[in-house]
Amino acid sequence: MPTVTPRKLKRWLVRAAIAVGAVALVGSVALTWLWHDRASLDAIDWPRYPQIAPYPGAVRVTWLGVATLLFDDGETQILIDGFFSRPSLTDLVFGRRVDSDTATINYVLDAYRIRRLAAIIPVHSHFDHAMDIGAIANRTDAVILGSATTANIARGAGVPEDQIVVVDDRSEYSFGQFTVTMIHSAHAPVGWGGSVPYAGTIDEPLTTPAPVSAWREGRSYSIVIAHPQGTTLVQGSAGYLEGALDGVQADVVMLDVQMLEGLGRKYAERYWQAVVTTTGADHVLLIHFDDLTQPFGKIMLLPRAIENLVDVAGWLEEFRDSWDTDTRLHLPEFGKQIVLYPQAKAQPET
Ligand SMILES: [Zn+2]
Repeated sequence: MPTVTPRKLKRWLVRAAIAVGAVALVGSVALTWLWHDRASLDAIDWPRYPQIAPYPGAVRVTWLGVATLLFDDGETQILIDGFFSRPSLTDLVFGRRVDSDTATINYVLDAYRIRRLAAIIPVHSHFDHAMDIGAIANRTDAVILGSATTANIARGAGVPEDQIVVVDDRSEYSFGQFTVTMIHSAHAPVGWGGSVPYAGTIDEPLTTPAPVSAWREGRSYSIVIAHPQGTTLVQGSAGYLEGALDGVQADVVMLDVQMLEGLGRKYAERYWQAVVTTTGADHVLLIHFDDLTQPFGKIMLLPRAIENLVDVAGWLEEFRDSWDTDTRLHLPEFGKQIVLYPQAKAQPET
């Protein structure tokens, strides 16, 4: 048996340290490259949403990243989701405790003239949808509409009870000329083995700061926002329940596509049929396609290694060509208000 002298041992240890260092270096270079390898939105050459100048009383919508959407008819504003604070990748990976960012929320409320907000309605209660709902409600008179889990997020933020409404499935809620209906849906099964990440409910008021895992899904909804000028369906997670939208008609669908590529083409086609074909929408606007770890206002696609939206866009074109040839596909532009129902001006209500 060879003798291990202290000198030999030292040499082996140095070699081992160099090998571990080299592997770590190569690994981190590879990870950095994978993280930065992203498709450009310009690679998807879909037509812009029909552009007309906003006219008094027109229903407008502004996409504010992920699935946050501001609806406004000039009298009443409705906010779907409330996610402006945007925890970083490091916050997510290390489970650091996060909270609403006061400066960002004040900036958004001012910059987007959110002054007539009647309701804040998260599609479900994960942090990337519901993190800031309480902080927004506390700066406005808006009610928060959602599941019992959503209500506990609001309570944890100190929102008064008279600004919290736990919804009944398929009941109608009126705000000015808007009528909102929440339909029980499913979250996209994007966790390990087809599970839903951070599933479950929040049964006590949620105190913050808390790690993002504390924002549990609660119940996921399809949200129908009807107005005399037209109807929009917001599908804020790429999940569906078979038959849940039977009988629902929509002019526009806001279609969540996050992680659709990983769920596969077959799944994506069934999702399209359940949400777009069933409702007969003329226009589909994609939402939840941007990297949610970027700061508010910075729109960037996810790394190709996680999801390549260009491939997903190709699938959606094929589904449209197979099932819904009159439907047009669009990408929203961040922070840019669009008139949702341009045809309403041509044929005013009598
Ligand atoms: Zn979610």
